[in-house]
Amino acid sequence: AVRIEGLSKSFGAHEVLRNVSLEVAPGEIFVLMGPSGSGKSVLLKHIVGLEAPSAGRVTVDGLDAADPATRHAVHMALVFQAGALFNSLSVYDNLALYLREHRLGTETQIREKVRHALKILSLENAERKSPAELSGGMRKRVAIARALVMEPQLMLYDEPTSELDPIMSATISEIIATLKTQTRVTTIVVSHDRDLALGIADRVGILMQGELLTIATPAELRRSTDPRISDFLNPQI
Ligand code: ATP
Ligand code: MG
Repeated sequence: AVRIEGLSKSFGAHEVLRNVSLEVAPGEIFVLMGPSGSGKSVLLKHIVGLEAPSAGRVTVDGLDAADPATRHAVHMALVFQAGALFNSLSVYDNLALYLREHRLGTETQIREKVRHALKILSLENAERKSPAELSGGMRKRVAIARALVMEPQLMLYDEPTSELDPIMSATISEIIATLKTQTRVTTIVVSHDRDLALGIADRVGILMQGELLTIATPAELRRSTDPRISDFLNPQI
């Protein structure tokens, strides 16, 4: 489980997160929504130990997330907002890199894992290409495949459907939901995508200016009469 207790974070005088508490249960899909700049990516970074709290505590399976040892003890994979793939390597080598660096198997075993992940994400034909040659949607899928080969217990996605067309967004949402049911991986998704959140989340948290406005199921959100929630979910254009 991921447990966040009274988390506050400031950069200089700028308080980005204020007293945030939430818990994500094993095997759950938790979607974190909120306007741009509300602190969603910063919150994710605390879970993977890339930021440390100014106040409060973040634990993963009872271990302090800010302790570097936690990242090794609990297998977590973060799919970054911008993908963060190596264009100088083929798609295949991007996926194999982590397994090779950590000596997680022979080349034959690594090939099996990489091919399996490529197949799940329908990327078999892309394995020899550089990520630079792929479309945005394919690059997102490569980033997810690369996380998948790490066989994580905790998958974190930062804006997995941003910059994708509605069909590709729906495909990615489906993949995230399928991976959860297939592997029981605990999943936290940061997203602006209302369809993704209401479609695949077990629970949704809405962050506004560094504070949690609510944590609710998609069904609760749909029938909410709180104007701040309905305005956020159904903005008038
Ligand atoms: P978006 O939806 O645009 O990705 P976000 O909710 O993910 O937004 P964050 O990246 O979490 O927003 O940033 C929240 C605030 O914290 C922003 O005002 C940002 O400028 C600030 N911030 C983030 N990281 C740092 C940092 N390392 N140093 C100083 N300020 C930071
Ligand atoms: Mg962000």
